Amino acid sequence: MFSTNPFDDDKLREECGIFGVSGADGAAALVALGLHALQHRGQEAAGISSFDGVQFHTHRAMGHVAGNFDRPDVIEALPGAAAVGHVRYSTSGETALRNVQPLYAELASGGFAVAHNGNLSNALRLRKDLVRTGSIFQSTSDTEVIIHLVATSNYRTLLDRFIDALKQVEGAYSLICMTPEGMIACRDPLGIRPLVMGKLGDSVIFASETVALDVVGAEYVRDVEPGELVIVKGTELRSIRPFTPNAPRPCIFEYVYFSRPDSISGGNSVYSVRKAIGAELAIENPVDADLVIPVPDSGVPAAIGYAQQSGIPFELGIIRSHYVGRTFIQPGDKVRHLGVKLKHNANRALIEGKRIVLIDDSIVRGTTSLKIVQMMRDAGAAEVHMRIASPPTRHSCFYGVDTPERAKLLAAKLDLGGMTEYIQADSLAFVSIDGLYKALGEAERAAVRPKYCDACFTGDYPTPLTDQDETRTVDQLAMLEERVG
Ligand code: AMP
Repeated sequence: MFSTNPFDDDKLREECGIFGVSGADGAAALVALGLHALQHRGQEAAGISSFDGVQFHTHRAMGHVAGNFDRPDVIEALPGAAAVGHVRYSTSGETALRNVQPLYAELASGGFAVAHNGNLSNALRLRKDLVRTGSIFQSTSDTEVIIHLVATSNYRTLLDRFIDALKQVEGAYSLICMTPEGMIACRDPLGIRPLVMGKLGDSVIFASETVALDVVGAEYVRDVEPGELVIVKGTELRSIRPFTPNAPRPCIFEYVYFSRPDSISGGNSVYSVRKAIGAELAIENPVDADLVIPVPDSGVPAAIGYAQQSGIPFELGIIRSHYVGRTFIQPGDKVRHLGVKLKHNANRALIEGKRIVLIDDSIVRGTTSLKIVQMMRDAGAAEVHMRIASPPTRHSCFYGVDTPERAKLLAAKLDLGGMTEYIQADSLAFVSIDGLYKALGEAERAAVRPKYCDACFTGDYPTPLTDQDETRTVDQLAMLEERVG
């Protein structure tokens, strides 16, 4: 079933990391390393496809990169000088192997393997049309829509067919495609999701983040630009921009949470931006306290910034077990709650009798904050003040970051007072959207026209949301029918 509700089990959205190598013998081994460095972007499943000059080979598996792709037999079965890989993450619902990427298809032009980071906001509409005209889908992934659009395009060459397909999709996509002729990497016209390009000897590398270049010892060359297609054939590299130019809107949440702090994104050090957000947070929302304590690991850089700006000592008041995945990774509310308990423990000797400022990067459902505040109280804290290094998350993301439906977002349900009460803190404050822009070296949001996609905070979605609008229309019609009935 292909649901019209993006939050159903057969959901479309994914969080992902992608990595591709062109022109290096044993490319799959490099891809495995690159995926390792991108593991934080998706822990549910991983896959690698390689091309040996004659044939494509693919291995896809549920679980982490380590454990699946650190086995010599697996890598040996992926021969060739070109390979592309993907890590995937979805919090609940169908996690079948058929949705694990790279997706592969035999097109008229030959094999085509694709890895996608992002989410298309009109995939359901396109899929319905494609199914009506005879396309048979193998997965419930939005990425497969691109493959069918390429397959059914009236253009002649693969590149023209690919461009034709991209012109029909809306939303966020960073893609790495592998064909017998070479590799194509591209970013959607707004550049919502990241994609960088690197060099290792004569080989070309594409990756979601620079940390994945670091891990294989590759040199960062530049970002793939919004709306750009980079085509690699042997040692020849070509760039085309087939879309009408647009003001880019890269995802601001990559800086808040999603990217690794040691990545450079859009020319900014993610770590430095996070520290600057913490400093803005301290300027906007000061508090009299004894200690600044990060919720590890996501709150650490912002807490350092907050401490340096406020002069309140930074201490590790919560110790995190590194053997549990990210809070969100375990599907299901019950397990998610348990995950928080498993993950963090209070450093009791430090906390007792102290007024503390807790720093985290974001509040989504409020699960983490509630548990951590309680944990601080149980450890004897005199006061617990929560400071959040992003504005309230009030809107769902339809571009590939897994925020839940609005009904589950704490800030969409409650005002500041309600949220403070819910998490049981003595006070709660968020950095403003202007503070966030300032931390990125920008003027106020309104003055720069939104340079980023910040829809999760503002509700200002930079692309049409065809699937949402159609779902809403269907829901509204159903409501109307009910009322009439
Ligand atoms: P919650 O407990 O639902 O309020 O989620 C907030 C916590 O989850 C924070 O500690 C964040 O670091 C983390 N977080 C925020 N957004 C995401 C996301 N899209 N995926 C995974 N974890 C997230």
